[in-house]
Amino acid sequence: MTVLVTGGAGYIGSHMVRALVEAAERVVVIDNLSTGFSNFLPESVPLFIGDAADENLVEDVINSHQIESIIHFAGSVVVPESMRDPLAYYRNNTMTTRSLLNVAVKCKINRFIFSSTAAVYGNPDQVPVPETAPTRPMSPYGSSKLMTEIMLHDVATAHGMNYVVLRYFNVAGADPLVRIGLATVGATHLLKIAVEAATGQRARIDVFGTDYPTPDGSCIRDFIHVSDLAQAHRAALSYLRNGGCSTTLNCGYGRGYSVLETIEAVRRVSRRNFAVQYAARRPGDIMTMVADTKRIRSTLDWAPQYDDLESIAAHALAWEEKLFRERNGESQQTASA
Ligand code: UDP
Repeated sequence: MTVLVTGGAGYIGSHMVRALVEAAERVVVIDNLSTGFSNFLPESVPLFIGDAADENLVEDVINSHQIESIIHFAGSVVVPESMRDPLAYYRNNTMTTRSLLNVAVKCKINRFIFSSTAAVYGNPDQVPVPETAPTRPMSPYGSSKLMTEIMLHDVATAHGMNYVVLRYFNVAGADPLVRIGLATVGATHLLKIAVEAATGQRARIDVFGTDYPTPDGSCIRDFIHVSDLAQAHRAALSYLRNGGCSTTLNCGYGRGYSVLETIEAVRRVSRRNFAVQYAARRPGDIMTMVADTKRIRSTLDWAPQYDDLESIAAHALAWEEKLFRERNGESQQTASA
């Protein structure tokens, strides 16, 4: 029996694929490589280059590989982009999942794990945020994921499917063995920007807002290491295989770090005192986002290994240094060719 991972060549999906392979699972990937990289996959893993919305492709893959579970990562994830082009998000996230579920139902797949986001909560009334908090997304990205959650719930109820929805908080870090990591050019995430500054690829980092009513005035986030997140998916798969009921789980550590603390952690692990500039608040930012993790800890057999900001920062930095060397090496080769 084999697990189908959509978006398995992307940042989080590729960590998932590695975790499954290391656990001796059989895996196949569908990825359109719009933001993924085929060389992020181990050679043993079949990659079908195409869209998770392509029902014929998905049906062929399911039937030819005896798929028993689907872990669905494929989708678009950039909040400001979703503001500019909401229909792309409703297509890539909501409609794609509708197509995928249509085939899943047809092929009688009864285990489904879905990548959702803390963005479904919008501005929370209380932190840490429990899964029962009101969902009030503030972007088409968050709405497209929430709509998918609702659809998945209805489909599962009607067709005897069991699912786990994982609502990710701030995913960061990279494979501790530095094989894969976040390689998107122009990424806007705090830790990525900070390690780009630490490796000299940026002159400085801007802190968006230092006048929030938080202890140091900057926003607070709950960072989860991408490898721990992959292990949470593995635990969710075991949970479903053991007959677990459908559920929705926050994925974070339940601990918040401020933007300034995060930048300091990168300065410490890199030993580089890159420039930090205080800037205006970024429109739409939520002040404090921290997961209530009681439910995930009581539901899944999951013990995070990297619940520590310095490890996350160190792995993100090691990956960024490797990426920088590779890109520089390549450009030098091109220049001398
Ligand atoms: N942030 C910052 N400078 C940057 C990038 C991000 O100060 O160059 C802040 C951002 O304003 C937010 C936090 O870091 O308060 C996390 O932002 P990110 O985009 O990483 O994730 P989000 O929580 O918005 O999904």
